[in-house]
Amino acid sequence: MSRSDITRRLKRHGVAATPQRVEIAKILLDRPQHLSADQILERLRQEGSAVSKATVYNTMHLFAEKGLVREVNVDPSRTFFDSTTRPHHHFFNIDTGELSDIPDDHVGLQHLPLLPEGTDLDSVEVLVRVRNK
Ligand SMILES: [Zn+2]
Repeated sequence: MSRSDITRRLKRHGVAATPQRVEIAKILLDRPQHLSADQILERLRQEGSAVSKATVYNTMHLFAEKGLVREVNVDPSRTFFDSTTRPHHHFFNIDTGELSDIPDDHVGLQHLPLLPEGTDLDSVEVLVRVRNK
């Protein structure tokens, strides 16, 4: 994805396209993938970027809030950012720490509970935890 594509995409989501934000977005939006903020920081460092850890964290949470990326919380200490924003589900491998996609139509939910009064269904996300044999 080119710099101008990224800039357009940020603007479409109401995010001002500062050079640092474009740099950070370029890492994750490059292809369908799941990266933690630390992994994004590591790649930025490899490319010689001096963006601070706080900027990466703040930027990723802003992107998630604006719907540019999806935040996937595996457990309280592990958050991934997903470049795929359409509805889908995930496998999480406890042994390798790897998150991978399950297509939306591969999961069927026949029995959803009654929703709490005064609420509408927004989305259902399934996280299937697996371990190596
Ligand atoms: Zn995903």
